[in-house]
Amino acid sequence: MSKYKPEDLIKHLKEKWGGRHCPLCTVGNWEVQDSVFELRQFSGGDLVVGTGPIVPVVPVVCSNCGNTVLINALVAKLVKRPKEAQS
Ligand SMILES: [Zn+2]
Repeated sequence: MSKYKPEDLIKHLKEKWGGRHCPLCTVGNWEVQDSVFELRQFSGGDLVVGTGPIVPVVPVVCSNCGNTVLINALVAKLVKRPKEAQS
């Protein structure tokens, strides 16, 4: 489980979304998850470790209807790319 600073994502969303509510229910406020998750390429149901790209994402959930938006943690600068993390 990979943690990041939720306040960094909240700042990013304020800049990019401008305080917009959920587009589906137009009611809810957003809640950010406190961990970074991974999207990996589907490999026919087999778990393949160590190959293929992984997309790090943070789910942002509408507290009213549950609509879930995945924010790319690299684009939002919440995590570093692997090459940057090693150096
Ligand atoms: Zn909603």
